[in-house]
Amino acid sequence: MDAALRRILYIYALENAAKHGSVPRAKAVMGKVLGTHPELRPHAKELPAALEEVLAEVATMAPEAWKAKLAELAPEVVDEMDAGKKKETKKELPPLEEAEDGVVMRFAPNPSGPLHLGHARAAFLNDAYVKRYGGRYVLRIEDTDPRRVDPDAYRMVQEDIEWMGLGVTDIVYQSDRMDIYYDLCRKLIEIGGAYVCTCDAGRFRELKLAKKACPCRAHTVEENLELWEQMLSGGFAEGQVTVRVKTDLEHPDPAIRDFSIFRIVDSPAHPRIEAKVYPLMNFSVVVDDHLLGITHVIRGKDHIANTRRQRYIFDYFGWKPPVYRHYGRMSIEGLVLSTSSMHQGIDEGTYTGWDDVHLGTLRAIARRGIQPEAVRRAMVDLGTGDTDISFSWENLYAQNKAVIDETSDRFFFVPNPVRYEVEGAPEQRARVPLYPGDEKRGVRELAFTSAVVLPAAEVEGAGMVRLKDLFNIELKGEGQAAYAGDDLAAAREAKAPIIQWLPAEYGIPCTLRTPEGDIAGVCEPEVTEHVGGTVQFERVGFARIDRVEDGRVVAFFAHR
Ligand code: GLU
Repeated sequence: MDAALRRILYIYALENAAKHGSVPRAKAVMGKVLGTHPELRPHAKELPAALEEVLAEVATMAPEAWKAKLAELAPEVVDEMDAGKKKETKKELPPLEEAEDGVVMRFAPNPSGPLHLGHARAAFLNDAYVKRYGGRYVLRIEDTDPRRVDPDAYRMVQEDIEWMGLGVTDIVYQSDRMDIYYDLCRKLIEIGGAYVCTCDAGRFRELKLAKKACPCRAHTVEENLELWEQMLSGGFAEGQVTVRVKTDLEHPDPAIRDFSIFRIVDSPAHPRIEAKVYPLMNFSVVVDDHLLGITHVIRGKDHIANTRRQRYIFDYFGWKPPVYRHYGRMSIEGLVLSTSSMHQGIDEGTYTGWDDVHLGTLRAIARRGIQPEAVRRAMVDLGTGDTDISFSWENLYAQNKAVIDETSDRFFFVPNPVRYEVEGAPEQRARVPLYPGDEKRGVRELAFTSAVVLPAAEVEGAGMVRLKDLFNIELKGEGQAAYAGDDLAAAREAKAPIIQWLPAEYGIPCTLRTPEGDIAGVCEPEVTEHVGGTVQFERVGFARIDRVEDGRVVAFFAHR
């Protein structure tokens, strides 16, 4: 057996054994191995035999030896196991039923725009379970409504998924599967589960509300099949025809009574395929959940009525539905999340683009320096409960701070700078740590000669202030100040605020973009070495350095 292959199997077998305290079943290890190493799929034939050998060896070892052996082979896995344990005790998602042998889950966005925080919840929750139980994670692009397809979104969704770092193992485009939907619709008609309806929509609605069948419900299978062929061959225009599932006409929810599963869309044209007959979501989702072997679906409560509709289709075909969990609605204060309103705002120039600071798209928050790991933690913290909740920016910011604090060097940014001449102060170089408490990170040097710039909001009125890491000064107004000694204790006693500063004529212009508007100021020139990364502007907050443009730094505010 290939030694590299054997090593991988051995590591996963040991990990599973050490975690659960027993020799794992082959299926569980296999699910995890193929889920995490899709490149091994071509070897799928040799794997079972190789795995048997490995498991037999694991079984001969003393249980205490599993972790030790694993530490020898892959210390990073042991570290991760230990860290995972710590994290899990903090906040753990509830277990999923029927998941012990691995899962197949999916993230199924519509390509109508880039992904936003609402999508991130579904994406990270499903991802967390696939990582926990092992298995496959299908990205399913749900593009069977040409009116809601933005051709650019195919690319943007991919970028957003890469940014999130999801463990996607398979990608499926629904628009590639039209023949599958057509075939199964025919089949559903043949088994008497659906009929083609040519009633006027308003008339159907009246009948439905009165719990009455429409005349089309009485079509024979042959009549339905003939109408279906006519639909496919262009015999109907948009709005003239639909296919309906036979449900319960007495169903308490009128929206479930004989719901539609196919329709004609004459325009706009689909960017990927030529078609006029499109499945509606409830049909394509059931077909794909079944054919792709989806075992568990975690989605929002707004899909509960769909779950009820979909059940009819599963039952007609005799398929077993996946295990569902519906989480509560999530409101996000101060944010527009609807893709169509964002689209409109961009077209009208209200927003600069999909990554405008006012939007809740992933690209907008990424631009502000929020890391995917922080979003993941925030979403896992929200969990899968079915009560409605509001998204907590505070928690996202706290999580992000935990992620970026250590990698963000400290700098001074002086908003709305005012110049002060400081009388009587000795020339000197302030040595300020790039990261307080870690000398190894180095220092930045700020050379004071005779004048400084200070934040306007901090120097109104007179009094003592301490220039951070330099000395105290007494403000006299009109841009004049006097040296007031080096003693920090004296500044404390005088309750002097400790403020950021820069030598005059030293800082470079910097615009700090915040959701409340731009703040103009100056910052340390070294900030230009951090384009694309985050820094902490002392006393102001964390920011991502977006670019340097005509000698001006443009930074996006993240949080305090
Ligand atoms: N494409 C659907 C949506 O974004 C998801 C369908 C589902 O989760 O079943 O709402």
